[in-house]
Amino acid sequence: MEDKKTIKRTVIAESDEFQNTVRNIVYLKSVGLHSGKDVSIIIKPAPANSGVVFIRKDLPSPVLIKADSENICSTNLRTSIGRNGVCISTVEHLMSALWGAGIDNAFIEVYGEEIPALDGSAKIYYEAINESGIKKLGAKRKYLKILEPIIIAPAEGSEGNDYSIAVYPAEDFEISYSMNFNHPFVGSGLFESQISTVNFYAEISKARTFGFLKEVELLKKNGLALGGSLDNALVLNETGVLNKEGLRYKDEFIRHKVLDLIGDLYLSGYRIKGKVVAKKTGHDMNAKLVKAINDNKPKMRLRGSSKSAGIVNNKKAQLYGKTFQPDCLLVNY
Ligand SMILES: [Zn+2]
Repeated sequence: MEDKKTIKRTVIAESDEFQNTVRNIVYLKSVGLHSGKDVSIIIKPAPANSGVVFIRKDLPSPVLIKADSENICSTNLRTSIGRNGVCISTVEHLMSALWGAGIDNAFIEVYGEEIPALDGSAKIYYEAINESGIKKLGAKRKYLKILEPIIIAPAEGSEGNDYSIAVYPAEDFEISYSMNFNHPFVGSGLFESQISTVNFYAEISKARTFGFLKEVELLKKNGLALGGSLDNALVLNETGVLNKEGLRYKDEFIRHKVLDLIGDLYLSGYRIKGKVVAKKTGHDMNAKLVKAINDNKPKMRLRGSSKSAGIVNNKKAQLYGKTFQPDCLLVNY
């Protein structure tokens, strides 16, 4: 196995000036990766400035849950959002697809407690959204521009403290993700690229979630991965993947981590202009970053005192502030 996989790509600027929604209704159905239940969603057009709003339509009284970091309720192997005790699990792949397709606003009716797994990547969501057509709205898109770094890392001296996540000022959206799995087939690697609607489909969308065969039984005992199969996940044994078709990208594992990161960060509610540097992170750390981005300064300091992770750079939340949040400026592009 290669020791280091480094991908550097050319700069691709995003030029979309206006907000988008889907042109027509999108219907998708499959098993839920973790619940193992059949679930379906209907993506519907939404007006400008609605954001992405999920609606649990299977309940006697529908519950609206905005795709917002404030509503994150679980980050255990997937990202779940909820409100008033009602949850929707595994939103990250769909959120990533919406980001990649340039969708700013959508109403997503959910029939079940989880988003359909489909093939375990963002590919099918992305293709279905594109097939429906993208509708440009009259309102200008706003971006969240990072002005000063926010760094989240484990408290000094804590065990296994080699993971971290940070965001730095940059003109466009860039991700640098490094990982080091103790597995001969996954190994270590670095993915660095500017990512936009221009290259998301080809470079990121098709990367599938992955899991280790030896962990499947334990996950299932804990009520997770109940719908997981070779149809919606790469499954690894000691030496390779069990999926007959093999990998879609040579470095599919790390690209999936990037796909997850994009989806989790889109819970900021906005497209970010900044460089995200992540080391061995999963949904938990991704959520800490997106919450730190959306929180104001005193709250960030508070979180900095937590034992497991803290803001090591205590400069201001260092995001522009205009009309939405005190420390965030939503810049008209
Ligand atoms: Zn994932």
